[in-house]
Amino acid sequence: MPATKILIVEDTPENLYVLQRVFRKEGFDIVTAINGKEAIAIVAENLPSLILLDMQLPELSGYDTAKLILERTPLPIVAITADAFPEDRERCLELGCVAYFSKPYNYREIVETVREILSETDRREKGEDDRD
Ligand code: MN
Repeated sequence: MPATKILIVEDTPENLYVLQRVFRKEGFDIVTAINGKEAIAIVAENLPSLILLDMQLPELSGYDTAKLILERTPLPIVAITADAFPEDRERCLELGCVAYFSKPYNYREIVETVREILSETDRREKGEDDRD
């Protein structure tokens, strides 16, 4: 079975490096983007199973990126943000993001949440297959 593909969108090289390393070690197939436009282009041609999205991106914000992606494809998006305001969490979830982490975050927690979301998606897809 091929590894599950995750797209990580993060403009800060150190953060991208760590996230990438953590998730590769967990056995995921990782694709990366350093801005929203790149992320949208990747999603269009190479659909990942989940997106880890930094909300503070240059030009196109993470919020706009999530909105544009979700308008086309109902992908699970996990928001990662440096903002510590409670309304930012609301904003991310209202947009349709499935989970939210604010920095400094716990990598173990992110990995666990990602695994839960993926197995939930998987169960749902299998359930739909059963009905056919
Ligand atoms: Mn950023």
